[in-house]
Parts: sequence; structure tokens; C-alpha cells
Amino acid sequence: MPELPEVETFRRFTERYALHSPVTDIRVFRPKILENTTEAALQEALTGRCLGETRRVGKHLLVKIAPLPKIESEPQAGWLFLHFGMTGYLSFERDGQTVVNAYGNPALPQAHIRVQLVLADGGLFNFHEQRMFGKLGLTADADRYFEARKLGPDALNVDRETFVTALQKRKGQLKPALMDQSLVAGVGNVYADEALYQSGLHPGRQACGLSAKEAKALHQQVVDVLQRTVDVAADRDHLPAHYMLHQRHPKAVCPKAGHPLHIAPFGGRTTYFCSVCQA
Ligand SMILES: [Zn+2]
Repeated sequence: MPELPEVETFRRFTERYALHSPVTDIRVFRPKILENTTEAALQEALTGRCLGETRRVGKHLLVKIAPLPKIESEPQAGWLFLHFGMTGYLSFERDGQTVVNAYGNPALPQAHIRVQLVLADGGLFNFHEQRMFGKLGLTADADRYFEARKLGPDALNVDRETFVTALQKRKGQLKPALMDQSLVAGVGNVYADEALYQSGLHPGRQACGLSAKEAKALHQQVVDVLQRTVDVAADRDHLPAHYMLHQRHPKAVCPKAGHPLHIAPFGGRTTYFCSVCQA
């Protein structure tokens, strides 16, 4: 499931492959993926314009719909928003061949394209989402879009004091607190488990019961785990061997010490943790 590092990778991919070339057509293969918009409205908003810049908070990606350079006096046309649900990703193709997809892995199936932008340079920019939990739509104002979703600070950029203060005010268990997008935006199930493992903190601890030292260590690990994953373009195979996320299977063992890992629900989500290393 795409979390912050994946969506940041999609943002960079969009900047690299899709900006500044005029959109000549937009094809919607599954209208159900659209939120509060129609194919006709997308055509109206996008054709004859280009994608101009990107913004991301947490798992939400916005792409500005910009006038073509020669008609800069045109009023702003708003933003395209993309949410990747459970299985969403992006790809770019040309001359019937996939040039690359957002994970850089050419073996990823070219199926489940839900929306396709046709660019004047001959490229096709594709939004894939197999399980249809993702959404694509239009919004007039980027700040208002993020505000309406009650997102906390982006987890990659949250400063230590803000993070520690938010945890100290928080009632309930640590794992669900980390995954609450209003506390910090972008951490999902896998990276919450990883940050807790790397911090040596049990997922069932009370969030407000952490010492200042523990809360600071957790902040450090949240940022570090996310940044390292962004640095490898969210290709988890390239993450360090001492990361627990390589072990998300029934015979999982603690990568640092070989203890059998526990698998239990916290906040309704399957959680991997080491009951020896995480206290
Ligand atoms: Zn262990």
C-alpha cells in the first residue's frame, strides 16, 4: 500500500515525465475512480493546458494544471489530485512501450490503467489502481484541499518538537497514533512498524507515556526510515538488511537478533514486532 515514500516517489516521477508538455486528450477507462468530477470536466480542465508543478502532503499528491507558456495570462485552472489507495502507481509510455513506471521496475504489470493523459510530445501518462480504492479528481485550491483532510505536518518534514508535543497529548496506543494522519501525515502500516522496531518501542505502549528521550528517538526513526526509503525510490529491496519490513511473512524473525517476530493487530492493522527488542 503506498505510504509517504511511495507517493513522494510518484511526485518525483510526475515532475520528471509529465510536466510542461501540453495535454491533448484524457482517457478515463473506469469512471468510478473519479471523485466529484467527470471525464468531460477533466477534458475541459486539462486539454490545451499542461501539468505545471506538484505538491505533496502525506499520501496526497496534487499536480497543478497550468496554462501553456504562451498564454500565461489565462486564469489558473486548479489542481489535479491523486490518491493511490491500496495498489495505485504511475507509469509513462511511448510508442506502445512502457518507458518506466513509478517504481522503476519494468516488470510491474501494465494492467489496470484507470486514467490516461495523452501528451503532445507523444507520451502517455498513466494512473493505475488495481483495487479501485484510489481517487483522481479536481480541486480549485491546494491549501484548502489539504486543510479539508485535516492532515498533520508531513512526516518527512515534521520537526522534533511538534512531533514530541503531539505524542504527549495523545491518548491511546502508539501504533494507531503514528498512523493517525492528523498527528503526522504519511505514515501507514509498514513504516509505522519499521519506525517502532528501529526505536525499540512496543506498538502497544501508550503514546503519552513515552519519555522525552523515547519520543525524540521515535521522531528520529520516523524521519530516517521515510527518508531512506525515498532515497531508494521506494524500492524496498534496497533498504538495509536490519530493516524488519523484509520479514513481513509468517516465519518472520527479528533481523537484528533472530527472535521470532510477533504478529498481532494494533489499531485494527496487522502489526509485526519483536517482543524482546521492543519494550
Ligand atoms: Zn528482537
